[in-house]
Amino acid sequence: MSSIADNIRQTKASLPDDVTLVAVSKFKSCDDIMEAYGAGQRVFGESRALELRDKHEALPKDIQWHFIGHLQTNKIKYIIPFVTLIHSIDSLKLLEEVDAQARNHGRSVDCLLQVHISQEETKFGFTYDECRAVLKELADAPLANVNVVGLMGMATYTDDMDVVRNEFAGLKAFFEEARAMMPQRLSVLSMGMSEDYEVAVQEGTTMVRIGSKIFGLRN
Ligand SMILES: *Cc1c(COP(=O)(O)O)cnc(C)c1O
Repeated sequence: MSSIADNIRQTKASLPDDVTLVAVSKFKSCDDIMEAYGAGQRVFGESRALELRDKHEALPKDIQWHFIGHLQTNKIKYIIPFVTLIHSIDSLKLLEEVDAQARNHGRSVDCLLQVHISQEETKFGFTYDECRAVLKELADAPLANVNVVGLMGMATYTDDMDVVRNEFAGLKAFFEEARAMMPQRLSVLSMGMSEDYEVAVQEGTTMVRIGSKIFGLRN
């Protein structure tokens, strides 16, 4: 079995220079994260607020922590002092709450709007129409302490890469539309995980979220 450090190096080598690698370390130990850190990785993604808070406290302060999971409003407080990017904004109410708490901490937080692109019902996110409405609202009345810098999407969990490619291509097209709507240019398109990131790269992603391919399967 290859090491976490090898996996980081191989994964990075397989990505174009302008695609950011988020190493998804959810449920993985601080030792595992430090092995990736030792190989130069600085951007990590977590999906639970308390786990993220604890790892932030324990680990080097030059790590950039991304939150990628479903965020409940009562958990925002655990991550708001330090989080670098929230990928998973799925309601205007959540964005407004992040804005309010960011203001209390005297900071501005980068966020992505999560778009529901898969055929699965369980995944969170805006429909394209809902997302358009939120973008329009933000273009008219920006929030002072959040920067919406892009979009995130998760493809259907399937071996059928034609389905996945279609969903990614649809999100990329919508990303271009969204960029045209916003005065400050959106720059981040977060799509692609261990099983489908190569397709996402071909379809124009700017950020991939890769967990099991780097750290091994989660329990
Ligand atoms: C867990 C998770 C990932 C990483 O999944 P892998 O298949 O392990 O690469 C990416 N994005 C989100 C939102 C996740 O929850």
